[in-house]
Amino acid sequence: ASKIIGLTGGIGSGKTTVAKFIEDCGFPVYYSDNRAKTIVNDNEDVMRKIKELLGSESYDDSGMYNRKFVAGKVFNDDALLQQLNGIIHPAVRLDFEEWVAKQTKYLVFKETALLFELKLHLQCYKSLLVTAEDNIRLKRVMDRDGKTYREVETVMSNQLPEKDKIKQADYIIYNNTNLDDLQEQTEKIIFEIE
Ligand code: ATP
Repeated sequence: ASKIIGLTGGIGSGKTTVAKFIEDCGFPVYYSDNRAKTIVNDNEDVMRKIKELLGSESYDDSGMYNRKFVAGKVFNDDALLQQLNGIIHPAVRLDFEEWVAKQTKYLVFKETALLFELKLHLQCYKSLLVTAEDNIRLKRVMDRDGKTYREVETVMSNQLPEKDKIKQADYIIYNNTNLDDLQEQTEKIIFEIE
């Protein structure tokens, strides 16, 4: 069986960029957050349960997941958010297990923003954290998404502080400089993992 490396990092840390470098080296990456976005639109069981929990407006007239509506419903209702996660997270876990069973490389990577927050690192062989200074991450995301300082800060405040993740991670990439340096660090680390 493949060894699973949990790849994580806060908003704007550069984890997706690192994931691409990892794929360039020939290792498969499972993108949990992207897969979750697909699953809420194509897993019948999940779709039915979400409608039961939050109402039929969770899906628009064309049957697409109404992210805004759902976000509004669970905003400030932690119990409801837990219930929603209780529908989505097990479906993603199952989807990942099916994916990983098909892989043949000795290492596979699972990209998840909330690896430590959701304690998913406990199900991984090792964890790899991409981290960068808060100010650098803020600027990168504002440039990338056209988001305001406040919007990025709000997401950040719902994630574990970098110092806590640094304490827990097995491998750490510091992404405070340029993309060449990021690629070099990535390649060095993935061939160190055994
Ligand atoms: P999110 O959690 O928001 O999806 P992420 O951790 O996946 O973010 P990326 O999308 O990889 O982060 O990087 C954020 C932005 O910063 C991207 O536009 C990326 O191209 C840019 N970026 C990442 N690292 C560097 C770097 N070292 N130098 C310059 N730009 C960078």
